[in-house]
Amino acid sequence: MRQFGLEPALELAERLQSTVEEPISISTTTAYISVSIGLCLDGQAPNNSGKSMFDATITALKDASRHGPSKVRAYSRGMRGTAPHRIADELEKALESGQFVSWFQPQISTDTGQISGFEALARWVHPRAGLMLPAEFLPVLASTGRLEQLGDAMLRNALKAIQTWDKIGFDIPHVGVNFSPEELRNPRLAEKIEWELDRCNVAPKRLTVEILETVVATSPDDTITRNINALAEMGCMIDLDDFGTGHASISSVRRFAVHRLKIDRSFVMKVDRDVEQQRMISAIFSMAERLGLETLAEGVESAGEHTILAQLGCGHVQGYGIARPMPLDETADWIATHQAKVHAPPVIGRISG
Ligand code: C2E
Ligand code: CA
Ligand code: CA
Repeated sequence: MRQFGLEPALELAERLQSTVEEPISISTTTAYISVSIGLCLDGQAPNNSGKSMFDATITALKDASRHGPSKVRAYSRGMRGTAPHRIADELEKALESGQFVSWFQPQISTDTGQISGFEALARWVHPRAGLMLPAEFLPVLASTGRLEQLGDAMLRNALKAIQTWDKIGFDIPHVGVNFSPEELRNPRLAEKIEWELDRCNVAPKRLTVEILETVVATSPDDTITRNINALAEMGCMIDLDDFGTGHASISSVRRFAVHRLKIDRSFVMKVDRDVEQQRMISAIFSMAERLGLETLAEGVESAGEHTILAQLGCGHVQGYGIARPMPLDETADWIATHQAKVHAPPVIGRISG
């Protein structure tokens, strides 16, 4: 068999990527796919077996998606992976010793340019594998019934972040926390959140509860319905996450006291260059307006997308184009720099000569 060196392997990976990443038209919409590739060259795996080579390739793939989207990584010995069975063994200790942290990604008002909030996103600071993303550990947490424990830690982290920003004097209206269906099925959820908010002296309106549109769409059980409505009544804000992917009916959106539609990235991608995307997202904005709901577009990656979304009437934006998720201790610098930019007087060009 022909052996590949690094250069030709990378070239092949890039060719594969650009072929698969071609936009695909599906009836009235266009799908954009991003491809991450992990590869392991001959002789690079820890030993010579097929299994070792396969595991090394998966490790490289995880590293690529961690630095995502559309990244290519070749396996190297310094790259450490974590097998799923090992993850399950390590979870208990990780949850107890605070290895699960929250990273924060800002959300910006398109009207004022000011920060309207942050979303808290779970990260596992693994002692050997380094930083791990939700895609790697959420399925294991779900299958071992530990999503609620993660949720407790994420809520505490979000409230701590609010306290930290308040102490510095930053005006951050709210923080979004992702709630899994498992957590929403706890009949004591609203009580628990009320208690935590009270303990941290944080007003309920500063907590945004992010609930997947699919949860609301699939006529959830009574406990979920009661929890969402109790949280809204308490004053928490309710965001319908990944909106546009879950096919929730208008009546279910109204039944659940939703405040804001968080429009899925698939409607946002290349919206500045794709008329069909513009039509779809405009329809969502006018529906939201008629229902009195706010809108937030997620996955905004470019200035072009940001501009067109503002022109089409989107209320808030979030995405790599504004900032990537960051650890709490990096947020203060980011907030200060952003606020200085928003408050800076416009630069008026002078004609020299
Ligand atoms: P999500 O709630 O839709 O969060 C947005 C995801 O998109 C995040 O991925 C974020 O890093 C990523 N993202 C943000 N801006 C951009 C962009 O411009 N381009 C692209 N390509 N991606 C962008 P992350 O952090 O890997 O989280 C993935 C999912 O895991 C989340 O999707 C959410 O469903 C879940 N998740 C994260 N944290 C938690 C948590 O604390 N609890 C629960 N139950 N689920 C969580
Ligand atoms: Ca979310
Ligand atoms: Ca989302």
